Amino acid sequence: MDAPTIQAVRGMNDVLPDEAVLWEHLEHAARKIFAQYGYRNLRVPIVEATGLFVRGIGDATDIVEHEMYSFEDRLNGESLTLRPEATAGIVRAAIEHHLTYERPQRVWTAGPMFRHERPQRGRYRQFHQLDVEALGFEGPDVDAEQIVMLSRLWEKLGLAGMSLHINTIGDPDERLAHRRALVAYFGEHAGALDEDSRRRLATNPLRILDSKNPSMQSIIAGAPKLVDQLGADSASRTHFEGVKAILSEAGIAFEVNARLVRGLDYYNRTVFEWVTDRLGAQGTVAGGGRYDGLFEQLGGKATAACGFAIGVERMVLLLKDGGRTAESVPDAYVVHVGEAAAPLARTTAERLRDAGLTVTVNAGGGSIKAQMRRADASGARWALIVGEDEVRSNRVALKPLRVAAEQVSLPPETVAKHIGATLERAE
Ligand code: ATP
Ligand code: MG
Repeated sequence: MDAPTIQAVRGMNDVLPDEAVLWEHLEHAARKIFAQYGYRNLRVPIVEATGLFVRGIGDATDIVEHEMYSFEDRLNGESLTLRPEATAGIVRAAIEHHLTYERPQRVWTAGPMFRHERPQRGRYRQFHQLDVEALGFEGPDVDAEQIVMLSRLWEKLGLAGMSLHINTIGDPDERLAHRRALVAYFGEHAGALDEDSRRRLATNPLRILDSKNPSMQSIIAGAPKLVDQLGADSASRTHFEGVKAILSEAGIAFEVNARLVRGLDYYNRTVFEWVTDRLGAQGTVAGGGRYDGLFEQLGGKATAACGFAIGVERMVLLLKDGGRTAESVPDAYVVHVGEAAAPLARTTAERLRDAGLTVTVNAGGGSIKAQMRRADASGARWALIVGEDEVRSNRVALKPLRVAAEQVSLPPETVAKHIGATLERAE
């Protein structure tokens, strides 16, 4: 009897090689641009104490209320959680290692996040983020720099049609005034609220604005706006004006969206999202903002900070239709027949790799015809053929598969140069 198969957990995906190429392409481009802006890599654990997220993200948020993968450590009973986002862990690490005592830090990290959501296109239970944080920076220049950096990344990836939404959610006293106004407004319309929102009215009324329920949208549209609570020359208004001025100077179009609040409690002042209309309801590909209170909330010294996360799966969906993708095809596929040919095939391949080329050596034998079929299927530009004749004469045959060139027979040490020359001509 066949053993039953085991499948991946719902909402958690395998990334197979054809698609992993796009992941690597994105990661490579992001890493490069983060480094160019002075962001350095930092890595934090996937598992953290549950209390970090309850305190950091806020206990009346969707994430903490419904979406965390929490479990008891089987030895000491401590409650642990698979991280639903990266900022809280990074701030914990920064406090623990006094990272910002001497100077502010620009850091980034990447990896899987876990949220128990209803899986659909662009929304999964294990998903991945590229996460960027500027720790210890107060001014609007850093908020704007991060937004500009993202727009450069979209450019590098060849992604058009990304739009930027920004808002300010003020400072704590302004948020409190706004909260009172919201409670009064939604209280008057209590009959029109859905169940979630009615509950939120008592715990976290700001979050009602983030409701995705279509029947709630018209009542949300009429709700008091936070910007109306900002004094004419309040610090948070000045900050927001500063962010907008730098974006305009950089030529970046934006829409001020007074309804933008974001799903985590720790934000203040600037919040932003990059949105596309090509992914249906899951159109937000990156989001972030300022969180000046989080260090203190987690027991650290007051430290201003700002960051964002890119949703990798959503980016990959975009790259699949429309973005420029990395060429993952080998420059050469090495076909070799006969025992004597294998060593020459391998040493020639190593020479080519030393010269920076991508080379696949046929594995598992097969006739010349079968190997040539594999060479073609690999997408390689050249087939490099090594048979007994070649071993005797210490030459290899180079047959063009996808380049306009003649077949030639060459000594192994000149093959890289020959391939390189055709690449240059093609560029
Ligand atoms: P959404 O409103 O789409 O639920 P969010 O506000 O919860 O997003 P953040 O916590 O700000 O998202 O995370 C930043 C980015 O991570 C999002 O803009 C999105 O691209 C991605 N992301 C968030 N949750 C998921 C998920 N469950 N599956 C895939 N990507 C996600
Ligand atoms: Mg969400």
